[in-house]
Amino acid sequence: MLNRNIEFEGAPRYAPAADQAGEPFWRSVLDSLSARICVLDERGVILAVNQAWRRFHHENGGAPGAAHEGINYLDVCERAASTSAVGSVDARAFGPLLADVLAGRRERFEYEYECHSPTEQRWFIARVAHIEGAEPRRVVVAHKDITSPGLVREQLREREALLVDLTASIPGAVFRLLGSSRDEQTFLFVSQGIEALCGLSPAVLCRDARALWNLIDPRDRDAHARSLRAAFDDASPWEHEFRIRSPGGVVKWIHATATPKPAEGEGLVWTGLLTDVSAKRAVDDRLAASESTYRTLFETVPQGVVYQDPSGRITSVNPAAMRILGLTLDQLQGRTSIDSRWRSVHEDGTDFPGEEHPSMVALRTGEPVRNVVMGVRRPDDTCVWILINAIPLRGEDGALEQVYASFEDITQRVSLEQELKRQASTDFLTGAANRRGLMARLDTEFRRTRRLSASSCAVLALDLDHFKHINDTFGHAAGDIVLRHLAGRAQACIRDTDLLARTGGEEFAVLLPDTPVAAAAQLAERLRQDVERAEIAFEGHVLRITVSIGLAVIEPGDAGIDAVLSRADQALYRAKDGGRNRVMA
Ligand code: GH3
Ligand code: MG
Ligand code: MG
Repeated sequence: MLNRNIEFEGAPRYAPAADQAGEPFWRSVLDSLSARICVLDERGVILAVNQAWRRFHHENGGAPGAAHEGINYLDVCERAASTSAVGSVDARAFGPLLADVLAGRRERFEYEYECHSPTEQRWFIARVAHIEGAEPRRVVVAHKDITSPGLVREQLREREALLVDLTASIPGAVFRLLGSSRDEQTFLFVSQGIEALCGLSPAVLCRDARALWNLIDPRDRDAHARSLRAAFDDASPWEHEFRIRSPGGVVKWIHATATPKPAEGEGLVWTGLLTDVSAKRAVDDRLAASESTYRTLFETVPQGVVYQDPSGRITSVNPAAMRILGLTLDQLQGRTSIDSRWRSVHEDGTDFPGEEHPSMVALRTGEPVRNVVMGVRRPDDTCVWILINAIPLRGEDGALEQVYASFEDITQRVSLEQELKRQASTDFLTGAANRRGLMARLDTEFRRTRRLSASSCAVLALDLDHFKHINDTFGHAAGDIVLRHLAGRAQACIRDTDLLARTGGEEFAVLLPDTPVAAAAQLAERLRQDVERAEIAFEGHVLRITVSIGLAVIEPGDAGIDAVLSRADQALYRAKDGGRNRVMA
């Protein structure tokens, strides 16, 4: 506001010649001026006004004669001060100043004030001065419009254009919503963006806010009304999301956010923004759906799933993991792969150290580790075989955040394989190893003996004496019983680490790792005597049998296992040649 109250230099002066020109001259001079001018007598009564004055009053809705000749201008000022809302401060200050000039207490003053019309912003300056030399006292009042109308209109247009550009550049629609009661809203302003949002024009919405509310999906109507009521009751910011079905039939999610301000009359005015959040909602929905799908999978898949942090500590396990490992959530959570409580083995029975666990390898190398077989001993001492995959998971910055290990229970498969392997190397009749089993084991022991020069490994070759006679006399079934009997006696004589194999019809071999010749010879002799003493019952008969045994040890110079087997066979022949039922080295 620009109100100034200043004295101005110099008062109206009149050239004596002009003074004598008379009333018509002065009237035409006054009428030619654009300023609104009136002349008052010492009481303030209007003596004369010019055309500009008359026109202004007419154009601004003044009653005919309301501020014309014969009217006291002090009354006009007083009325303006009491009734006019706009510029009333100016009118109240103006009257007393004018009274001062009329009374001679002040010579003149100049007063700037604003007097806006419903369509324009206007500023005026009033110059009031007594007319020098006039007797009785006369005062001239001149109002001049100092608004530059072009400039103001331009500024307004610019401001409006800026507002339009600004609101148009915002994705969505800017709005002002007047809530006059809990359930009654009126849009005071809606930016053009609303058309793209819901297919309705700002004009339609400003006429009736329900045009928008009617588009709201029936599922969201109650919540929408509730949110507006709550915002009204609490005079709080309004924030709400709802679906609308645009006239094209497209369903969109609209996000509304607005801050309130008391309205000039009753109610509240919210200024805010409506935006289309359909895309974000779609992503959120998909995420939620995939999250819940993932949750369900995690809970229900038969595979065990374990998440471990970068130190290998278990952070999360699914029910299948607990079931497979036979451990509770509490027992698993916080445990690392290198925890000493784990008892794990490789398929060949050797130890599976925690550092070699696929999760630890994945964490160390940052690479996935797949299809690793591990035997894990459970608290009930049974062994579960699992096939493990471990995948390192990285965060957005690429850093290793955790490892995802999944495993399936393959105990049945491993047991079956082990049984098949066992069967493939086992003699069906006696349960001893077969020739293939003997060769595999002998190969291992041969290489081990080579490596550890201090150790010695003995091989016994056994052949039943006159076995054909048993078959011929008592039948093949009796022969089978004798074969099983011998296998049983031999197994009873040897250690777990030794191996008995049936290498042919009535021929056997015994592998004795870490056994010197003397100890092997003792064992062979004990076995020979044991077999000799045994009485084998068969269908009421008592069968007796003897065995010849050849003994050999792996020698440092042996080229391979055939060498030692051949030496054992030669010793066996010597035992046969020597009269059977004896041990020969
Ligand atoms: P020797 O003292 O010289 O070893 O005489 P032997 O009779 O034990 O030896 P021989 O090689 O002459 O006979 C072996 C017999 O073993 C011949 C065969 O009928 C028998 N035989 C081989 N396999 C089986 C089997 O699986 N069951 C039975 N009952 N007999 C078998
Ligand atoms: Mg034989
Ligand atoms: Mg024989």
